[in-house]
Amino acid sequence: MRIAIFSDVHSNLEALNAVLTEIRKQKPDRVFFLGDAVGYGPDPNECMEKIFEVSDMIVAGNHDHAAVGLTDIDQFNPLAAEAILWTRSALTSENRDRLLSLPMTEREKDLFLVHASPDRPQEWSYISSMPDAAYHFDFFEGKICLVGHTHRPAAYFCDGNQFGEIQESVLTIEEKIRYIVNVGSVGQPRDRNPDAVYVLYDTEEEKISFVRVKYNFRITQDKMRAHHLPSFLIERLEYGI
Ligand code: ZN
Repeated sequence: MRIAIFSDVHSNLEALNAVLTEIRKQKPDRVFFLGDAVGYGPDPNECMEKIFEVSDMIVAGNHDHAAVGLTDIDQFNPLAAEAILWTRSALTSENRDRLLSLPMTEREKDLFLVHASPDRPQEWSYISSMPDAAYHFDFFEGKICLVGHTHRPAAYFCDGNQFGEIQESVLTIEEKIRYIVNVGSVGQPRDRNPDAVYVLYDTEEEKISFVRVKYNFRITQDKMRAHHLPSFLIERLEYGI
């Protein structure tokens, strides 16, 4: 089986279209989305339509919850909060209802899906380092936990009492080892690479690949300017920060 996993679209339609074009070429058996459909960018409704059309499973992100009042924007930095207020005004009532009904976690066979971290998903804590990851291995069942949230692709493993980080673009999944894989962000990468990213898991070959996809962020930036979204949010797209 081949599974495509993507996360953190953040209302960036150009990045989403580029990634979905690549995903369709791969003809995956399953498609999973790890949350943050909206927030930051200019096309929340259009992105939600496409994400819901293509995805077999979707979990909630903190921006999805903030956009419908389930998470307080006091927890957000001022620029993110400003974009959430704009998103609230732009969302259709149908899309608001869809965001309100998203699950926090999903499970399919050996895969556990959560936006931020498995211990207390609704607290939205970040897995940004090996020590963070090591703590979270006790809080999910199955072999591989798939996360987003940090906007940085990463992979961590647990082999009994040993923990480590893997920094390759293709991981080989080994027997008896468990993994936490951060699939990165489609719509606002923060690993100093502006290209969108998604992950492809081939369960027969036991390989997980991070795939980078270029898109025209200038179009997204122009739309954000037209909606008077904060200028740092516009600029960061071209630097991947
Ligand atoms: Zn996000």
